[in-house]
Amino acid sequence: MNLKLRRPLVAGNWKMHGNRAEAERLVGALIARGAAAGTAEVVLCPPFVHLADVGRQLAGSRITLGAQDVCAEEPGAHTGEIAASMLADLGCRYVIVGHSERRALYGEGDALVARKFQAAQRHGLVPVLCVGETLAERERGATREVVLRQLDAVLSNAGADAFAAAVVAYEPVWAIGTGRTATPGQAQEVHALIRVRMAEKDARIAASLRVLYGGSVKADNAGLLFAMPDVDGGLIGGASLKAEEFTAICRAAEG
Ligand code: PEP
Repeated sequence: MNLKLRRPLVAGNWKMHGNRAEAERLVGALIARGAAAGTAEVVLCPPFVHLADVGRQLAGSRITLGAQDVCAEEPGAHTGEIAASMLADLGCRYVIVGHSERRALYGEGDALVARKFQAAQRHGLVPVLCVGETLAERERGATREVVLRQLDAVLSNAGADAFAAAVVAYEPVWAIGTGRTATPGQAQEVHALIRVRMAEKDARIAASLRVLYGGSVKADNAGLLFAMPDVDGGLIGGASLKAEEFTAICRAAEG
């Protein structure tokens, strides 16, 4: 039984994977397996080019659509970018902002991530704000400082109230796509840190904020991670591309 008051959420981040046929097969298999048949909320974040097709396929299912990134600007002369209003128009409900791959490979800093967070909310999207330290940062004892800096950058721009309609994902960079998962205890420690920081601003919002764990979550480690008191589900990369595995992770989030 899930004793937490927050509804668990499992989001699949497909990253830059899959052609149209593969996307259709995966979504079909997830619907057939009842990935969202339980109490957890299930979100799929395919690449932009598949959003319309996946959205159509998800119509009538309990699975929700999300995107992997968003432009901080309103529609205009921004070649190659995708505006929040466009994502909302396609039926997206969630959008990932500040994923560590965007921070590390595309130079996104805290200020830009905060602007993306706010752009998403201007158009009714729920941002999934990713925070997390690198291995070097963890090893020099800077986990707390890095995670709070990334969180505070958004808090100071958007305010605590904005987190009533947002999700935070703690994704230690050293655990993403590496097969090396944070222990449930390591995850809980940082999740609690995030919730305490939020509580300093607004206790009610802190209590209702969903904080996901991401980083090599698999069917066989999801249960212990999700059982932690401040872990409210997961942001899943590699394992979200396998219908059976992802469905099992969704089941594990049901508590
Ligand atoms: C991610 O990309 O957000 C992620 C958590 O990836 P993986 O599950 O593959 O580590």
